Amino acid sequence: MNCTDIDDPHAARAAAPLRVASHRCRVTAHQAVNARYRYLRLQAEADLASATRPGQFYQLRCPQTSALQPFLLRPMSVYGTGPEAGTVEFLYAVAGTGTQALATLAEGQSMEIVGPLGQGFTLDAAARRVLLVARGVGLATMAPLVRQAAQAGVALDVLLSARSPADAMADELLRAAPATVHAVFDSDGSSAVDRVEPLLAELLAAGCDAVYTCGSERLALLLRRLLQPHPQIRAEVALEQRMACGMGVCLSCVRPFEQEGRVALQRVCREGPVFPLREMVGGWHG
Ligand SMILES: Cc1cc2nc3c(=O)[nH]c(=O)nc-3n(C[C@H](O)[C@H](O)[C@H](O)COP(=O)(O)OP(=O)(O)OC[C@H]3O[C@@H](n4cnc5c(N)ncnc54)[C@H](O)[C@@H]3O)c2cc1C
Repeated sequence: MNCTDIDDPHAARAAAPLRVASHRCRVTAHQAVNARYRYLRLQAEADLASATRPGQFYQLRCPQTSALQPFLLRPMSVYGTGPEAGTVEFLYAVAGTGTQALATLAEGQSMEIVGPLGQGFTLDAAARRVLLVARGVGLATMAPLVRQAAQAGVALDVLLSARSPADAMADELLRAAPATVHAVFDSDGSSAVDRVEPLLAELLAAGCDAVYTCGSERLALLLRRLLQPHPQIRAEVALEQRMACGMGVCLSCVRPFEQEGRVALQRVCREGPVFPLREMVGGWHG
């Protein structure tokens, strides 16, 4: 493990200096979940899992193959930790060069990851019921929060949006945690914003202490609008922005947020990837 402390004067949200560590890991499981998503489990040092919070991410050094030479590391949310000490899990969609190369890794091979990085979700100790809204692979980001909420005895309502039932992965999100699941799909039109709006409005009106979302800007913006009459509800969004260094130096993932009526530029990798949903500005793609 190599560690570097970075003094970070820009970090408004990040109180402590960033402790960046690179970990050499062994692949202990790697398999397809369905046609689009793969599951990866890595074994690193014993204290890695306990240092990782729901909503944080790692930068993965994808392997080089004869056909694929990804240059930058690729950011991936932590999908889970354990059961063995030092085990971290990822759930990813095979998209382009980096993830195609990642998909070639075999069990027993080793790879490097850097992290844990970024600011995770906040679950208040007093929370009794929370609503999770996840779209696509956004569920990988939310899965550790599901586990944390279930362990704390917090009731969960989950709205899961996917292209089709085959992509929904409710079991992968919940991993046996008790929850009321509402699944909506592109394939039957039920994921359209005008169809989801009354359902979300009803869930908010029924009462919850916090709302968390990841994976869809249009759902996040819908939630932000529907939350206007509910200022008491904590609301957080985990953002996926293209990024290079992942640790606040290159500034490639900066995007605008609304803070107290002003525009504030924040780095998704460092002040985020989890932000107050009410500060999110839509229509920004870097
Ligand atoms: C904090 C964070 C957490 C993430 N967690 C996960 C996760 O748990 N599982 C998962 O499957 N993916 C996750 N992503 C997205 C993942 O990083 C990208 O899919 C991956 O970097 C694509 O690399 P590639 O070389 O395969 O594809 P590329 O050839 O680089 O791109 C393929 C497609 O993916 C898009 N893309 C590339 N980089 C990103 C990015 N950083 N964010 C969003 N879209 C991107 C491109 O616009 C393009 O459409 C996360 C991204 C961030 C920023």
